[in-house]
Parts: sequence; structure tokens; C-alpha cells
Amino acid sequence: MDLKKIGDFILAERKKKNYTQKQLADILNVSDRTISKWECGKGFPEVSLLQPLCKALEISVNELLAGERLDKESYMKKAEQKMVHLVEEKKENRTKLILIFLMGLISIVSFVTLIVAVNTYTEVISNQAKGILVFIACAVFTVGLLALMEGGHTFGYYKCLHCEETFVPGFINYTVAINIVALRMMRCPRCGKWRWCLKVLTRKERDENEGT
Ligand SMILES: [Zn+2]
Repeated sequence: MDLKKIGDFILAERKKKNYTQKQLADILNVSDRTISKWECGKGFPEVSLLQPLCKALEISVNELLAGERLDKESYMKKAEQKMVHLVEEKKENRTKLILIFLMGLISIVSFVTLIVAVNTYTEVISNQAKGILVFIACAVFTVGLLALMEGGHTFGYYKCLHCEETFVPGFINYTVAINIVALRMMRCPRCGKWRWCLKVLTRKERDENEGT
């Protein structure tokens, strides 16, 4: 709670109502020093005074706590910002997903190409060159596989199908997990048990679906 902001807000709203500190104090049955303390951000009205104070200033308790007028417009703006953020997060995750797929694809294609090359030109290539090529193929494949695992781990979230908890799995939890396409058997942080978890692109996806 920002006492300074709330104090400034009380002061501004009191002035709007053309009350002196003394007049407002009389309405609330407190001393004008108390009002002064609130307005300087050195104190906050006790619970029993919240309603009378808000009534006198014609503000809501929510507005008092926020230290600002919460008009419909600013409320809408906040909701809008949240939506924009959500859409951006989703887009970003899709881009990552595509990149991860491409990396996986490239590593598999390089691997297969090199192996095929070694077997096709078996007469032309020396044994030593073959060894090097197979080594390169395996290295490319391993790097691709690691990138795939690491990438899969860093983007999006997993949702526990048992309790609906959405979480980012730790690397070990993710790597050792049995998985079938977008489903992964992982230890759910909320249940504390091994559960089937579904890959989701945003943390809020579940709320969004419930909302519509
Ligand atoms: Zn769970």
C-alpha cells in the first residue's frame, strides 16, 4: 500500500469537496491532526473509518486503497494491456516452436545425408574420412537433439491434468519424463505426484478458455 499516494489522493479529493481538514475531521469524529497525518502519508485510516471517509469524499474503498480514481476507461485500458501481453506471449512462443522444429529437422536431415553419403561413396572415401563424417553426423544429431530438449523446456508451460496447475518444469523433471506428443508424465508442483501434463502455450490459456 502506497501511503504517500493515498495521502495525496485524500488531499485532492478533500479539496474537490471544498472541505478544510477540520471540516472533514468533524464529519469523521477525529482530530484534524489525524487527517493531516493521512494526507502526509504518515498514517492510514483505521478500518471503522474507511466507509465514512469514502462516503464523505464520494470515492469507493477500492479507489482509496489504490490512491486514484478507477474510472471505467483506465480499468478497460488495464484489461486491454493484459490481453495484448497475452497475445504477444503466444506469438513469441509460436515463433520459438517453429525454430525448434526447424533445428530438429535440420539436424535429422544432416545426419541422414552424411550417413547416406558415407554408404554411397564407400569406394571413394577413405576409412579415415568416413570416421570423421560419421562423427560429424553424430555430433550434429546430438546437438540438434539437445537443442530440441532445451527449447521444448524453455518455451510455454505444462498444465497438470489432475489439478489444472500450470507450471514450467525443471530441466531434469522435463528430460527424464515419459512423453507422448504434447503429453508428458511429470511431477506436478501442486499435487507433488507424477501426473500427465499437457503442453500449453501460455500460462493463462486455461483461464481464457474458461472465460469464453
Ligand atoms: Zn497437479
